[in-house]
Amino acid sequence: MLVEVTGGHVVFSTRKGVFRSGQVYALNGVELTIRRGETVALVGESGSGKTTLGRLTLRLVEPSQGKVFFDGKEITHASESELRPFRQRAQIVFQDPFSSLNPYMSVRELIEEPLIIDGEGSSQERRSRVDAALEAVDLLPASRFAAKYPNQMSGGQRQRVGIARALVRDPDYIVTDEPVSMIDASSRIEILALLDRLQRERRMAFLFITHDIATARYFADRIAVMYAGTIVEEAPAGAVIDTPMHPYTQALIAAVPEPDPANRFKRRPVVPGEPGSADGRVVGCPFYNRCPHRMTGVCDTITPPLAEWESGHRTACHLYDSRYATLEPQSGSPLVRTDLQYSPMNGR
Ligand code: SF4
Repeated sequence: MLVEVTGGHVVFSTRKGVFRSGQVYALNGVELTIRRGETVALVGESGSGKTTLGRLTLRLVEPSQGKVFFDGKEITHASESELRPFRQRAQIVFQDPFSSLNPYMSVRELIEEPLIIDGEGSSQERRSRVDAALEAVDLLPASRFAAKYPNQMSGGQRQRVGIARALVRDPDYIVTDEPVSMIDASSRIEILALLDRLQRERRMAFLFITHDIATARYFADRIAVMYAGTIVEEAPAGAVIDTPMHPYTQALIAAVPEPDPANRFKRRPVVPGEPGSADGRVVGCPFYNRCPHRMTGVCDTITPPLAEWESGHRTACHLYDSRYATLEPQSGSPLVRTDLQYSPMNGR
């Protein structure tokens, strides 16, 4: 296993005004594994903990509880000097290509900077590696793009520079945090195709963070769906899309826009309701207040574990637990749908 998080909790301290402080429970006992050469998509709404989990795997945040491993070595509380070899092998591509690149540095300086920090190679070797990274992301001719500054490039080209900056260290693992959400629609497919090609050519592992489950299917081997700081469903990408088990995943898929000849790309309703507050520990299922299938007395008191109910397909939902098969779901929820392709095992 290349990347592994076990029992990952992250709690941030916050300050509310001058005298009051609080805590935000960003991650609540997350388990995540990524194999060498595998692409895992983390899907969920804003605030679900996707970015925090991505940063935890890179040890850019330290867990409050739990452990983080990279290539079999525990890095949970490793110091920055101990993390140096790891930093060369694990990289991130940021969401915003406009703010993540220093506007006063040329493209060559931006891509070369991590090599200089690592003290790698002679000036000529670094020059060759920058040119190779630019060629890998199709910014050609490399010498022309290397001399440009970020403000002379389009959003898609800037994101390619961000990818080249990650690639130049020849990493084994890359976290891409919503890499196409802030660039124009015409460049999105090109950037996704580029990432897909690079992943296959170089056999890197990817953690692909996105709020868009349709994009996740295109890009990922496996999808992990996050809600309120936990993973609520995880399986091969096709299984999550074709036979979603968790009511939240079903709602996400139901909200994907579909081409409609009469009304082009009509968007279905987004998932109704709001996630609960993250400033306290959740009792019971975190999706309880939005779930059409919630069972009072069970879902509001017992936290469902992420369990494998079908081969390779795990979900955290009491609907699949035979102990609760006779209970009636509560009606009148804002999310009652009759068109979901879904049949809980206890109802078959
Ligand atoms: Fe809904 Fe209960 Fe399943 Fe949570 S555990 S998703 S509330 S049915």
